[in-house]
Amino acid sequence: MMEAPLTVGSMLERAEKFFPKKQVISQTHDKLHYLTYADIGQRTRRLMSVLHELGVQKGDRVGTLAWNHHRHLEIYFGAPGIGAVLHTINIRLSPEHIIYIINHAEDKILFIDEDVLPLIEKIQDQLTTVEAFVVMTDKSELPESGLNPLYSYEELLQSGDPTHPFIEGIDENDTAGMCYTSATTGKPKGVTYSHRGIVLHSFALGIADTAGLSESDVAMPVVPQFHVNAWGIPFASTWFGSTQVMPGPRFTPKRLAQFIEKFGVTVTAGVPTIWLGLLRELEQENYDTSSLRMVLCGGSAAPLGVIKAFEEKHNIPFYHAYGATETTPVATFSRLKSYQQDLSDEERLEERARQGILVPGLDMKIIGNNGEVKWDDQEMGELLLRGPWIADEYYKDDRSENAFIDGWLHTGDVVTVDEEGTIKIVDRTKDLIKSGGEWISSVDIENALIAHDAIFEASVVAIPDAEWQECPIACVVLNEGLAVDGMKEEIIEFLRPQFAKFWLPDDVLFFDEAPKTSVGKFLKRELREQVKAEYNLQD
Ligand code: ADP
Repeated sequence: MMEAPLTVGSMLERAEKFFPKKQVISQTHDKLHYLTYADIGQRTRRLMSVLHELGVQKGDRVGTLAWNHHRHLEIYFGAPGIGAVLHTINIRLSPEHIIYIINHAEDKILFIDEDVLPLIEKIQDQLTTVEAFVVMTDKSELPESGLNPLYSYEELLQSGDPTHPFIEGIDENDTAGMCYTSATTGKPKGVTYSHRGIVLHSFALGIADTAGLSESDVAMPVVPQFHVNAWGIPFASTWFGSTQVMPGPRFTPKRLAQFIEKFGVTVTAGVPTIWLGLLRELEQENYDTSSLRMVLCGGSAAPLGVIKAFEEKHNIPFYHAYGATETTPVATFSRLKSYQQDLSDEERLEERARQGILVPGLDMKIIGNNGEVKWDDQEMGELLLRGPWIADEYYKDDRSENAFIDGWLHTGDVVTVDEEGTIKIVDRTKDLIKSGGEWISSVDIENALIAHDAIFEASVVAIPDAEWQECPIACVVLNEGLAVDGMKEEIIEFLRPQFAKFWLPDDVLFFDEAPKTSVGKFLKRELREQVKAEYNLQD
C-alpha cells in the first residue's frame, strides 16, 4: 500500500471540493452567521497566510480562548494547515491555571473571543511567550483594550491570501493539536494530538456502530471546542461534509432547543449537566425535536433517569460514550448488540447507561488486585487503553511516568466488565470509597439518587470513619421549590432495597448548588472539603 500521510488540512480540502455548498451556521456575540464550506475554506486559507505574516512557523503553538463558532473552526484547520499546533485553552479555568497553561505550552499567539479579553488583559504581564493577540469580534473596530499588539481577526483576514495552500510534506505523526486536562487535582496536564490521531479518531466517529456521523447530519457540538476538540466533532463533521451548527458564547438551554428546532439538528453532544438543562427547557416549552437522531452524552456518567426522560418522554435517542483528554476522546460507545434488542425496557436502560464497548481500533485491559479481572461485572479494576488516538505521554511533564506505563494509558477509571465486554465505570481511582476492606462505587449510588423524583443533582463522597475506614455521604440538590424536611429519611429508604447495607450513605446533605469543574462535572475535591467542614473533620 502507499504511504499516504493522514493530515488535518486534507479534511477541510475534501469539504471544499465535495461539499462547497454545505453550511456552517455559527452564533457569535452579535449575530448568526451562515457560511458554506467554500467560505470556510477560503477564510482558512486567508488565515494560514496571516499566520505566516505574523511569524508563526511549523511547530509553533497557536492558542485559542474561544467558544464554539466558525472562526474557532477556521483555526482548527488553519493552524495545523501550516504545520503549527492548535492549542485550545479552557476559558473556564482559573486565571492561575490559564497562565500556567499558556506559558507551559509556550503559545506564540493567542486568538481570543471578545468576552475573554478582560481576563487576558489582567494576566498579560505574566505571559512569557505570547507575541501577539487577535480578537475575534464581529465589530468593524477593535475594542478598547490594554493588550498589545492587538489585531482584529476579520481585518487580518481581509489582507490574507484566499488561495494559500495547505502545507505539503507534513509527517502524519507531527503534532496538530493540544489540550490540557481540566485538572480536578494539581496543575493541568498537556496532551498533544497528532495529525494521524485526529484523522483516525474522525474515522471512528463515522462508524455506524459509534456516532455514525455522515454528510446527511446536522451536527451541533455543545461540548466546548476548548474541551478535547469538542470531542473531535468539528473535524469529523467537516471531513464528512455534515452541516454544522455552532452554538456560540454563553449559550442557554433555550438557545439549544431553538437551534435544534430551527436547523433540524440530528446529532448533538455534551456533558450530562447540559442535558439536564435541556430537559428542563423541554418541559417548560414545546419544541419540535423530531430531527434529533442522537444526543451524545459523555464526560461523566449519564444518569439513568436522564436517558429515560429523553427517550420515553421526548422520544429522543440518547447515547452514552466514554473518553478522556488523553484519548482524543472517544474510547467506548454504548449501543445494544443485535441480539440484545429483546431485553426488557428496564434491562435495555441499564445496558444503555453503561459506557459500552471499545471503539474499533483501540485495545483495552482491566487490571484489578490480582491481575486482569474476570468479565463477570463484579470484579473491579483500572481501565488501561492503547491505540493510535491514545496519548503516550503528558507534554513535558514528569507525571507522565505514573499514567503511561509499558505502552498503556492508565486511565485512573475503575470499571467492571460484563461477559459482553461492556464496561461500566464504577469510579475514578481517587473517588472510590473504601469501606471495611470493600470498595463502594460512588457512581452507582449517585445514579440511584438521581432516579429519585425529588432530586435534581447528586454526588457521593467519602468521609473518614474510625470503624470502617471511610463511609459514603450523599450530597443532594433538590428540584426547585422542594422542602428538605423529611427528605433524608425518604432518600435513605428509597436506596435501601437497591444496595447492600454498608453502601447506604451515612448521611444526606442538602445543597442549593453543587460545586462544579469548568466543564460541568462535580468538583468532588471541593465537595469533600465542604462535607468535612460540615462535620468539623480535619485531614
Ligand atoms: P478531567 O480528567 O479533568 O475531568 P477529562 O475531560 O479528560 O478531564 O475527563 C475524563 C474523565 O471523565 C474520564 O477519565 C472519566 O473519569 C470521566 N468520564 C468521561 N466519560 C465518562 C462517562 N461516559 N461516564 C463516566 N465517566 C466518564
